[in-house]
Amino acid sequence: MRFLLTNDDGIHAPGLHVLARVAAKLGEVVVVAPDTERSGVSHAITLYKPLRLREFQPGWLACDGTPTDCIYLALHHLNLQPDVVLSGINPGPNLGHDVLYSGTVAGALEGAHWRVPSLAISHCTSSEDRMAELEPLLDQMLPMLLRVAQSQAGAVNVNLPPIDRGPWRGIRAARMGHRLYANEVIARNDPRGRAYYWIGGADVKMPDIEGSDCNAVRDGYVSVTPLGDDLTRHRELERVADLLASP
Ligand code: MN
Repeated sequence: MRFLLTNDDGIHAPGLHVLARVAAKLGEVVVVAPDTERSGVSHAITLYKPLRLREFQPGWLACDGTPTDCIYLALHHLNLQPDVVLSGINPGPNLGHDVLYSGTVAGALEGAHWRVPSLAISHCTSSEDRMAELEPLLDQMLPMLLRVAQSQAGAVNVNLPPIDRGPWRGIRAARMGHRLYANEVIARNDPRGRAYYWIGGADVKMPDIEGSDCNAVRDGYVSVTPLGDDLTRHRELERVADLLASP
């Protein structure tokens, strides 16, 4: 099996190296990843500046673009023909509406867009200290996740509960829930007296939604969410058409 790996935390990120070690036990691994942290870039594509690729180590290329740029170059310039795209392991959750902001998830969505089965994997804690402990757990779980990814056309978003909360209780198919950032804006002045702002806040709320990825991880289960890239609200289409047609 040929794996193409990327992430949004940069080519040095421990999670990417753990994922590469796990995948290398099942096949051939090529990594094309951003040269620095690109978390939160979503599905951005670089159209108005040139991109560079640099060899980081054999089989690993660093790109000065986004995760989407990495997958695009890997498929359409390097002409890699991976069986699977893996994106991650992100240090921090990609639950609920994180999916819309996430560069990790976008890496997988870009793979799926070009018809390659794709998985995004996130560890739901911002600490990277115990990332290496995920390796034996993913050794066990990856074959099943690959079967899920290869069984359908979209990307598959996987969230691992924080390992420091104890053993995982199992694995669950889950829908996207809601994960709401505090509507907090920190405003301060820089050393030259000019205002700057820090958005997002630390306080994140996850409303209780039965069957959601947020609930699964809260309850200690690995969540597995099939994602589509069609954001149309199909059940509203007819109503909108009726409104447009009315005088
Ligand atoms: Mn990230």
